[in-house]
Amino acid sequence: MNKALRKAVIAGNWKMNKTPSEAKALLNEIAPLVKDADCEVVACVPYVDITTAVEAVKGTNIKIGAENAHWEEKGAFTGEISTGMLKEVGVEYVVLGHSERRQYFGETDETVNKRTKAVLKAGLKPIVCVGELLWERECNITEEVIARQIKLDFFDVTAEDMKNVVIAYEPVWAIGTGKTATADQAEEVCAFIRETLAKLYSKEVADGVTIQYGGSMNDANAAELLSKEDVDGGLIGGASLVAEKFAAIVKAASV
Ligand code: PEP
Repeated sequence: MNKALRKAVIAGNWKMNKTPSEAKALLNEIAPLVKDADCEVVACVPYVDITTAVEAVKGTNIKIGAENAHWEEKGAFTGEISTGMLKEVGVEYVVLGHSERRQYFGETDETVNKRTKAVLKAGLKPIVCVGELLWERECNITEEVIARQIKLDFFDVTAEDMKNVVIAYEPVWAIGTGKTATADQAEEVCAFIRETLAKLYSKEVADGVTIQYGGSMNDANAAELLSKEDVDGGLIGGASLVAEKFAAIVKAASV
């Protein structure tokens, strides 16, 4: 299997942006622009937008994702949302381990691992984010950091379940900063992630996993990043909130 056989996934990560009515308006704007996409198009939206978003994308090729999910099905976890709740309202993808969750909300590889297994068990698709800090890159330990995250985040995840996993390589220094990794830097780490998966599972499993790049990807740089052999899509923050920019990235992934 090679790049041509993997499904490219372009996913917007809306973060804490857009009210339900704004979400509906944005999705209505995006839908006609991406209707001929030859890739998976996903919008990961705030929890309160999900029901409106699922309704808004009915009859389109856009899938809806959430931005996190808890590992327990129910219980005393104030403020958390379970996979069952997400499934019932029509969510298909869930972003996990985003650097903002790791940085501001105490997310660890252990909790990312628990969330990943719960999401897979529920039949949802996790988009698991990994990436190094600027300091770690400067200290030349990017590969060590990434290998550790991959090993821990996917601990005990079966080869069969890996078929439903998307990994987003997001160098933390490139998120929301306007600083994009060069296409070569993105390819180097995405290829390293695939090598790591091949060692942990098999080449066949590794070749089947969609690996996205994320970090200031936009309409101007997407084509070059997405042309790389091991970059199978993008997780898009800022540019996913502007219909034309997001659609241009989807178009770049569809060639
Ligand atoms: C993200 O939040 O996952 C992200 C990549 O953000 P941005 O595109 O704004 O850098």
